[in-house]
Amino acid sequence: DRLIGADTREGEAPLDHAIRPKRLADYIGQPRVREQLEIFIGAARGRGESLDHTLVFGPPGLGKTTLAHIIATEMGVGLKSTSGPVLERPGDLAAMLTNLQPGDVLFIDEIHRLSAVVEEVLYPAMEDFQLDIVIGEGPAARSIKLDLPPFTLVGATTRAGLLTSPLRDRFGIVQRLEFYGVDELSEIVARSARLLDVTADDAGAREVARRARGTPRIANRLLRRVRDFAEVRGTGQVDAAIADRALDMLHVDHHGLDHMDRRLLMAMIEKFDGGPVGVDSLAAAIGEERDTIEDVIEPYLIQQGLMMRTARGRVVTRQAWQHFGLAPDDQAPT
Ligand code: ADP
Repeated sequence: DRLIGADTREGEAPLDHAIRPKRLADYIGQPRVREQLEIFIGAARGRGESLDHTLVFGPPGLGKTTLAHIIATEMGVGLKSTSGPVLERPGDLAAMLTNLQPGDVLFIDEIHRLSAVVEEVLYPAMEDFQLDIVIGEGPAARSIKLDLPPFTLVGATTRAGLLTSPLRDRFGIVQRLEFYGVDELSEIVARSARLLDVTADDAGAREVARRARGTPRIANRLLRRVRDFAEVRGTGQVDAAIADRALDMLHVDHHGLDHMDRRLLMAMIEKFDGGPVGVDSLAAAIGEERDTIEDVIEPYLIQQGLMMRTARGRVVTRQAWQHFGLAPDDQAPT
């Protein structure tokens, strides 16, 4: 499996819980998001109101779920959590909504995957705190209306563009998470090391951070693997040399690219002469889902300037050719 894929969470739950920041002040990086939320939360609290519905979007592992929990903590309210694919029928959503305490946060992960019928139920709930659903079928069917307590919907999605516009329009606050810089990730690694009782020096934390694909979840995961390596092959202390050896062994390269990233870029170079190539052809060429390419793999490669999206398709940049020690095609964009 993909070691540095940001999307798998199995088996990480207990550790994750220990290192997940609980307050806005412990949320490292994303200064714009933090500053705005501080203001909105402070204002809502001051007025004794619930916070406006908030949409958080960005690639997996950047801290959307963490932010939802922080919002609830900072507002001093409870949080109920679910996800788009889990809410199959309107009744599933109705059950969640009627279970909320006044002011609670309802967190819906992968909110772009809600079915149209469930979304219909969400609109009046978000707008007027009204539940309006039909129960039963045929002649026995009846419609019920209920008042709901005020609540804050926090929705998470990988790309804002995946939401229908009526749903997107009902969020008063929209926040986009960016990939983290090396300094911020170093701070995250150092903090996690402290909480996990790992001794890591600055250079060691930095080496892990540099190779974490701009993503806190990956940084934390690499830290744990590097710790294993340090315990078995070293003195237990994470320094730059140990981190470097461990990450090489895990095939994470110096740019933080893993084998899927490299496969995607190499396929573009070798099979499509650097592009432009459509995302569907690319998906077929490397045997990955189109969604995985768009949500997980390419955002980081684009951010790093290794590839671009153009009207005619994806193209690799000169920097990508150089990354593999190849001579760029004369037309390759810089
Ligand atoms: P997402 O919901 O976007 O996939 P998560 O909120 O589950 O991502 O974050 C993944 C992990 O990364 C969390 O368990 C948390 O420990 C860590 N993390 C995310 N954002 C931050 C941050 N800003 N500061 C410190 N740690 C973070």
